[in-house]
Amino acid sequence: MNYLKAKKEELSALLLSLKAKYDEVLQKGLSLDLSRGKPTAEQLDLSMPMLGKSRTVADCKSASGFDCRNYGVPLGVPEMRAFWSDLTGIPADNIIVGGNSSLNLMYDTVARAMLYGVPGGERPWCREEKVKFLCPAPGYDRHFAICESLGIEMITVPMKADGPDMDAVEALVLDPAVKGIWCVPKYANPTGVTYSDEVVTRFASMKTAAPDFRIFWDNAYLVHDVYNEDTLLNVFDEAKKYGTEDRIFFFTSSSKITFPGAGVAIMAMSDRNIAWVAPIWNVQTIGHDKLNQLRHLEFLPDKAAVKALMARHAEILRRRFDIVLDTLEKDLADTGVATWTRPNGGYFVSLDVLDGTAKRVFALCRDAGVTLTNVGATFPYGYDPDDKNLRLAPSFPTCEDLALAMSVLTLAVRMAALEKLLA
Ligand code: PMP
Repeated sequence: MNYLKAKKEELSALLLSLKAKYDEVLQKGLSLDLSRGKPTAEQLDLSMPMLGKSRTVADCKSASGFDCRNYGVPLGVPEMRAFWSDLTGIPADNIIVGGNSSLNLMYDTVARAMLYGVPGGERPWCREEKVKFLCPAPGYDRHFAICESLGIEMITVPMKADGPDMDAVEALVLDPAVKGIWCVPKYANPTGVTYSDEVVTRFASMKTAAPDFRIFWDNAYLVHDVYNEDTLLNVFDEAKKYGTEDRIFFFTSSSKITFPGAGVAIMAMSDRNIAWVAPIWNVQTIGHDKLNQLRHLEFLPDKAAVKALMARHAEILRRRFDIVLDTLEKDLADTGVATWTRPNGGYFVSLDVLDGTAKRVFALCRDAGVTLTNVGATFPYGYDPDDKNLRLAPSFPTCEDLALAMSVLTLAVRMAALEKLLA
């Protein structure tokens, strides 16, 4: 039944029957979690061989013979830089290998810009009267948290089916206080959108008022296909055509390839930006965990090995995405009160419910024992102006739990919509 076209009496009758179902769910005392995009244990098991063997001294040497048990090589083991070069299409010299977290690299990069400024700028960002960042939304809550923590004003930019609304972006970057933008260009968190060629080209070619404007290009899901593989232009190749490669700060990690929290993160940037960051980096560290870099290289020597591993992740994730997408289709497609994304990869599905009902859906789920990502988390300052977006993270629960959680969710979506329409 399309709720928006149905008669009031039909809606009331339906709400009554759904409430009865909901009361039954309440009796079950469920405890299910759809809130965070963490790999499930079965996925973590895939990378156990990386940890499994006892090590000799020879295993701890890099190709050049450097003993990776010791301090040094702060920009990363050369073969690890080459590995990421192969995976990203970015020259190894433009890649710096960090520790276990790309989010940490992003935080540090913003903080470094605040403290020191970046090439092309006149002063540290903290000396500016105001610093603003563009935040395509729905987006990743932890990006927004970095801005909020460092006192950077966030401006929401709508997400479209092929990336951020570039008309809005191009207009907003004419404000010299706008110094940056957060981008998750492939299988975005939470929409699953991959940026079109046109969007990438517009990012590379757009005119910005701030000479020290930076795009924080967080390619967290670069090899994380679940169904078909989306293709994404190499942003550096595009930027070179317009002489704008200094505006790109690129990040990614193996968190969702091997182990979140125990993977290998990198950042990549132009020669000029590398020359800026390397001396500061050398003050920050005498080198990250090179033994972890070697373990990763042993387990994943090249792109083919990564692709093979990611195909096994995809099998596990596909079962879960199927459950989410099939349940949404079965329970909500006819109602006219919900729309959702159908990503080819990544970790999330973004669900838009009837305007003004997301908080109610969250509460109904919570009371029935199903935890969702906080409403508003996908927007700057935790505020969804339409109260409609919910981020679904299907990876972590078992398929049985996920199916149960999804049935509660769609029940809640329908109830909340009916309550609103009848109010
Ligand atoms: N960026 C995005 C878009 C993410 O979704 C995540 C993980 N949820 C991260 C970064 C975190 O990456 P890392 O583990 O490398 O810090």
